[in-house]
Amino acid sequence: MSIEELRIEYKRRFEEYRRKKVELEHKIRLLRDDKEKIERYIEEVRRGAPKLRIEEIGKEFGVEIRDTFVGRMMLLRLLRESMRRVDAELRDAERELRRIDECLRDGITCPICRGLGRLTKSRIERMEKIVKEVLKVEECPLCGGSGKIRDC
Ligand SMILES: [Zn+2]
Repeated sequence: MSIEELRIEYKRRFEEYRRKKVELEHKIRLLRDDKEKIERYIEEVRRGAPKLRIEEIGKEFGVEIRDTFVGRMMLLRLLRESMRRVDAELRDAERELRRIDECLRDGITCPICRGLGRLTKSRIERMEKIVKEVLKVEECPLCGGSGKIRDC
């Protein structure tokens, strides 16, 4: 890939990160709302919500409650399972968001110089009887010496 193609590729990647950030922030808001709601339901059922209310919550989670006692147990188990699922999803989404925020803030390590900012090139020089290797250090053409590709 040429430097110009790499630049375009990274520009695209940052655009994708910005789009993903908005998407994740939205998802996290929804999951937090869900979590709060489930917490509220668990509290309600534990405190002995009336039969009608138990049925109502059950319906929202796709179960039909017949017997109040068994139904309450079943519903509690279901709510706790949902809670674990929402918690796991929330953790994953928050972790991904942190990773994206880091890339947007600090940039991505340059793939050409691997973060060094410069490239060392060697060249063989022949002078009469001597052959020697000449090293030349150049500024990295992709990151311009910073070692990072940044969002701009
Ligand atoms: Zn570089």
